[in-house]
Parts: sequence; structure tokens; C-alpha cells
Amino acid sequence: MIEYVSPFFRPPSEAKSFILQATIGCSHNECTYCAMYRKEEQRFRVRPMDEIKSIIDEASDFGHITDRVFIADGNALVLSQKKLVEILGYLRDRCVRLERIRMYANVGDILRKGVDNLKELRELGLDMVYIGFESGDDIVLERIRKGANYDETVRASNMLKEALIENSAMVLLGVGGVERSLEHAEATGRLLTATDPEYVGALSLQLRPGAPIFEEWEQGKFELPDKFQMIKELEIMVENTNLTGGYFFSNHISNYLPIKAKFPRDKEKVLSQIREILNKKDESILRPDYYRDVINQY
Ligand code: SF4
Repeated sequence: MIEYVSPFFRPPSEAKSFILQATIGCSHNECTYCAMYRKEEQRFRVRPMDEIKSIIDEASDFGHITDRVFIADGNALVLSQKKLVEILGYLRDRCVRLERIRMYANVGDILRKGVDNLKELRELGLDMVYIGFESGDDIVLERIRKGANYDETVRASNMLKEALIENSAMVLLGVGGVERSLEHAEATGRLLTATDPEYVGALSLQLRPGAPIFEEWEQGKFELPDKFQMIKELEIMVENTNLTGGYFFSNHISNYLPIKAKFPRDKEKVLSQIREILNKKDESILRPDYYRDVINQY
């Protein structure tokens, strides 16, 4: 029987994928807003290759793997090139219907891989990675210990483009706190323009016990923007974002206002939608707070 170390996470768009937990936890595990992998049993480790292969064998024998695989946990691209090539190759051998392989990736791991290794992974089926940009503001990135700055994120995104691997970027409303709310929103929009991802998913910060930022908030060192400030951030972010053809979503359950825009076509339309909400300041048209309390996939 395939044994998962729980809880494990995947993006909402990987709901139909087989989750191959080749690593447990996150090798970085320092982002102050993240409480996903803080339990002792989730301490970062790589599953032995024979275990990974027997999971693939079992999943394929029982028809669990159809056309999609998501390699978990937090940043599977940290695996050595040799290991990744072996895993992707084995998946392709065992699963004839496989169409796509995806994973979370950190900017630092993308830079360490380099374009040639990324191209090799693309040839083996890795067609998209999910990256937590979170912010474009270097001061915020430093504070939240993201481990990557604006320039590094641009370089990593360019490498993905060159390797023809799609970029699904996540940004986090509210993560700059009240203090850097405007700077965070503006710089994040600029970063999205500079990196031009195929997909952008905006989430709104949820303060969860276990995450260092939760303690900062309890101690009065971090102030969470209120719901209309978060929507203001969304407006500024969208204003400063110009994608050549990507999608911008804020439909994650953490958000007060879900938007869906295909750029550049829908930019002005969603901006007027956001501005109307900001003008009305009517809470009843926003998603209720209890939605945000539901534990959900990041
Ligand atoms: S946000 Fe991602 S990179 Fe940061 S600690 Fe959590 S899983 Fe690791």
C-alpha cells in the first residue's frame, strides 16, 4: 500500500494528478508565513529510489496513474539531476499514458539546475513548475525569509522560458503587512511583468499557528492588512502587471475577491471590477471570512 506522510499539499489544479511523494517536507522550510511542513514527521528527506520506484509500480499496476503526476512535497526540484532524470524516466517507462509531470520549485533550485538540466527535464515530461514568488519587494522577501530576491526570480523565470517549462507563479496578498502593503503590491506587479509567467495565482495571507509570522502578529510586530486593503493590493498588483498572454487568478479560497483574467485582454475589465468593490466597501459582496478558515491546498 502506498504510504503518504501527511499532511501533504498540491496546487488546486493538480486535483486529478497522482501525487508521487518523492521527497517529504521542504528543504528550505524557512518562509515565515508557511506552516505546511513544521511537524517532526515532515522533516525534510528524500525517499530512497527503490521506494519511489515501488510506489510508481504499484500506482501504475492499480491504475492510479493516468495522464498526470505531481511530484511532492514542497520543492521536489531540489532533488539531484541524476535522481530526477531517473524518476521521470521510470515514470515514462511504467506509465504509457503519462502526459504531464509537475512540481513545486524554488528559485534557488531553478538557478542551480541551469538551462541545460531544465531542458533535459522538459524532454522527460516536466512541462510546468509552481513557484512561490510571494512578493517582488526585496525588503518583504528578506523579512519573510523567502530565500530569493527580485533579480534572482527574474533570472530563474528566464531560464524556465528558455527551457520551455511553463511558470505558474504564486503571489501573496498581505504578506508585506500594513507597513509595506503598497510597496509590496507595486513591486509584485512589476516582478510579474518582468517574469511574464503563463499563470499567476494570487492568494491572501492566512495566519496559521506554527508559522513564525503568526508569532510576530501575536507579539504586535506584524499587522495584517484588512480585507479591503488586501483588495487594494490586488488592484495595484493588477495595475502594474502586464503579461503577454498569461492568466491571472485570485480564485483560491483564501481570497476575499475571486478574479479571473486572461492578459492582456481582460486587464481593464478586472480593474474596473476591483475598483467598483473598493468604492462600494460593501463586505456582503466579499467571500465570507469562514472560507479562509478551511484548511486548503496551497
Ligand atoms: S512556502 Fe514553500 S519554500 Fe517556503 S517553507 Fe513553505 S514549502 Fe518551503
